[in-house]
Order: sequence, then C-alpha cells, then structure tokens
Amino acid sequence: MNKREYINQAEENLFHVYNRFPVVFEKGQGVHLYDTDGKEYLDFASGIGVMALGYGNERYKEALKNQIDNITHTSNLYYHLPMIEAAGKICNASGMDKVFFTNSGAEAIEGAIKTAKRYAYNRDGFAGHEIIAMGHSFHGRTVGSLSVTGNEHYREPFLPLMDGVKFAEFNNIESVKAQITDKTCAILLETVQGEGGIYPADKEFLAEIRDICTKSDILLILDEIQCGMGRTGSLYAYQQYGVQPDILTTAKALGSGVPVGAFLVTDKVASNSLVPGDHGTTYGGNPLVCAAVNVTMDIMEEDKIIQHVAELTPYLEEKLEDISSKYDFVSGHRGLGFMQGIVLNETVKPGEVVAAALEHGLVILSAGADVIRLLPPLVIEKNDIDEMSKLLMEVLDEFK
Ligand SMILES: *Cc1c(COP(=O)(O)O)cnc(C)c1O
Repeated sequence: MNKREYINQAEENLFHVYNRFPVVFEKGQGVHLYDTDGKEYLDFASGIGVMALGYGNERYKEALKNQIDNITHTSNLYYHLPMIEAAGKICNASGMDKVFFTNSGAEAIEGAIKTAKRYAYNRDGFAGHEIIAMGHSFHGRTVGSLSVTGNEHYREPFLPLMDGVKFAEFNNIESVKAQITDKTCAILLETVQGEGGIYPADKEFLAEIRDICTKSDILLILDEIQCGMGRTGSLYAYQQYGVQPDILTTAKALGSGVPVGAFLVTDKVASNSLVPGDHGTTYGGNPLVCAAVNVTMDIMEEDKIIQHVAELTPYLEEKLEDISSKYDFVSGHRGLGFMQGIVLNETVKPGEVVAAALEHGLVILSAGADVIRLLPPLVIEKNDIDEMSKLLMEVLDEFK
C-alpha cells in the first residue's frame, strides 16, 4: 500500500482525536526516522521527548528482549526484580525517597494530587483542600490532570472538573501568594513549562515557592514529565535550581520508549499520606517497563549522556541565535538544555512550520501559540545540530 492508502485505512477506524501529519513512520535508527516510502527524517522531537536514547540502541533492545523472555507482567500484588532495581535507581538519582510507578504522565499527576490531598487530610482531619497550579501549564488529559492544566481551551468542554484548583501566573510570585489560603495543600508547577511554550522557571521564583511551601507545610509538586530525565543537562531540572520537591512526577523519557511514569515522594510525605488501599494500578511499573527504566538509567550514566547534553547545549543555542537573528518573524529563543523553543511573531503559525519541516525531512514540534519546540534525542551530535539548522533555515526561508 502507498502512504495515502495507509492513511485512508487508518481514518476508517481510528477515532479522529488527532489531526495527524500525513506521515506513516515505520522504522527508526539513531536520530533518524523512516516512513513507509523509505524517506529519511532527522528527529528533533523524540516522540514528544520520549526517545532520549534515539532509536535502536543495541543495549536497550537487548535488555527488553531478555525481559520479554523472562516475564512481562506480574501485577502489583507481588514483588519483581526489575521494579526493585528501578525503585532504587530512580530514588537515588532524584534525591527522593519513595516511588510509585504509573503507565503515563497523567497518571503520575493523578497520584501526586491524591498524595497531596491525603497528606493534608491526615494532618488536618478534614478534606476540601486546594491546589495552586500555573497558567499555561500542562499536566495531562485525564480529568484530574486536566483540572490542574492552565489552558481554558483544553478544559472548557469538560467542566465541571475537579474542584479546589486555583491558577497563578508562572514566574510571578505575588500571584502565587495571592492564591494561598489555609486550605492550600500543594503548589504544582513544571520546572520548565513544555506544552505551554518552553518557559523555564526563574531561579528566584522557584526558590521563593520552595520557601513558602516549607514554612506553611504546603507540598511542592514539580512536574518534570517533559523536562526531566537529562533533557535540561541534569537528570532533573530542579537539581540545577538547588531546590528539592516534596513530590516529583516523571514520565516521557523515563523508559525511553515504553509507557512508564512515576511519582516520587519524600519520606515525610510517604509516611503521612497514602496507605495500602488508597491507590493502585494493574500495569504500573510492570517488569517490562521497569527493565526499560533500568537500562535507560544505566546507559545514561555509562555513556555520560547528561554531561553530553550540558556540553552541547551552548552549540545548539548558538545555532538558534543565528536563526533568530536571520528572520524578522523570529523574535527569539528560550529554553534549557535540549528543551528549546523558537518564538515566532503572529505572522507565522508554528503548526505550518512544523508541517513544512516534515516535507523537508525534519521532525519538530510546536508549543503554545507561537513557539517551535525542539526536543531532540539526547544523543544528537554536533553534525545533527548543523543538519537541523540547515533544514530549518530552508523551511523558514519559505515563510519570508
Ligand atoms: C506530557 C506531559 C504530561 C502528560 O503525560 P502523558 O504521558 O501524556 O499522560 C504531564 N505533564 C507534562 C509536563 C507533560 O509534558
């Protein structure tokens, strides 16, 4: 079948909840993707920040194949070896104490919300607590995670959502303070906002929030589902800010290609919140996905992937600076590490640039209303950055 036929067949049965780009991917190798016509693409999207190791890593494939030979699922009624190993690794690397594995980012957020509510309920003896979330935030599409997502367009059709959520302005400490009441149980934010348009938290803003939370026994929930797992040049972005959350959510690149997420908590939170019977998941953290977490973390450490991100970031930023200065309709760029946004003015729509880039064999993303988002695999090299920059300029030339 040709591409058009595949797409027609897909649309016969797939619930049309995505306006997909007209590409049928079949294979990936390294930092490249190949469609059913055999066309090659340079991937600067990583399947939305998931494929941190790129495609076809031999060690990764070997580990997953071995795990399939042993066992892929047990349920959470029993212990299994990959989870025991993954729990130790992720707690150790994040500075958190306890972990609960989920199947997705949204489920990690759900768990974080329930944990924060349970903590405040235990402390105060009554329910009805509030969560402060940020404008332009994104935390997922389930009802709970949508309730804390600061995007009216996503929320409106599904109202009423979870009660007790207040929104503050990201990087505006006064607006956060204005939302705090004696019912506030948690402040939730992305250390670097992703979908909302690549906005890194200001150092001072995050430090002040940490301070407020500590003083008032409010839990700080950092959502590092997109910015975590080495993308910003440290395993978690907060490690560059010198703050530690009370609850951390992680997913996307956690298993570099299998559905796995997690929420992690401090000992203090763990021993004063959820108890057996409060929460659960059938699949969450099964042996297959935990094997992926383990091998991902091993490869990241042994191949010094996070140092690689930190070392190569100035080069990527230099190229983005060149692009910004070359086009009138590009107003600048911002980001942290390999999580970068190119900001467009209103004359050019990011979605159109993304579509044109695909034609040129470059996979990129949009974010917010005016941002081209780059989330390359963490294993890109200088020549891949050169190639991206060349292709992207070819694309942007068409919009002049
Ligand atoms: C993607 C994302 C989520 C939701 O994760 P899913 O796996 O799609 O449910 C939550 N928070 C952030 C910051 C994200 O980028």
